[in-house]
Amino acid sequence: MTTDALQNWEKKTKEHRKSYQQFLKRADKNKVLKQLPVLHEEAFEAVDCLTCARCCKNYSPRFKTPDVKRIARGLGLKESVFIDTYLKVDEDGDFVVKQSPCPFLNPDNTCSIYEMRPSDCARFPYTDEDVLIKRPALTLKNSEFCPITYYVLEKLIAGALK
Ligand code: SF4
Ligand code: SF4
Repeated sequence: MTTDALQNWEKKTKEHRKSYQQFLKRADKNKVLKQLPVLHEEAFEAVDCLTCARCCKNYSPRFKTPDVKRIARGLGLKESVFIDTYLKVDEDGDFVVKQSPCPFLNPDNTCSIYEMRPSDCARFPYTDEDVLIKRPALTLKNSEFCPITYYVLEKLIAGALK
């Protein structure tokens, strides 16, 4: 983590959970959406995902039908073989990885299927989408372990207080 804005973020994100909750409940969606592209970019510059990989180590993306088709094809596997080898169905009925860390995570934290990774992985942590506001429970959960989510929430709240 290369910036002062991220100092003690793990401690602070716990302490600030209530204010995140309140902010997400009351936030002006249009105003937030205008701020997100810049904050999203800033956050990805400040945080090196390759030294983190907490998402890939601890949580699974959903593997939607187009993801399964694309990845199975890319790996040269039959869809049924790909599913049997790597995936299970979770409580919401979605395909997810059988176990964490993700089997496609390399030891250096790069992704072995990066170019064809699931759409959830490409979009995570949704800091440039309205999902950030529309799914507050998800955003709060992500703020617990993802410094990019923390960074964006902190900046949004600081901007709203001005
Ligand atoms: S948890 Fe957040 S900061 Fe860490 S690798 Fe995933 S997206 Fe990047
Ligand atoms: S598919 Fe790649 S980006 Fe997605 S969780 Fe697995 S290792 Fe991470």
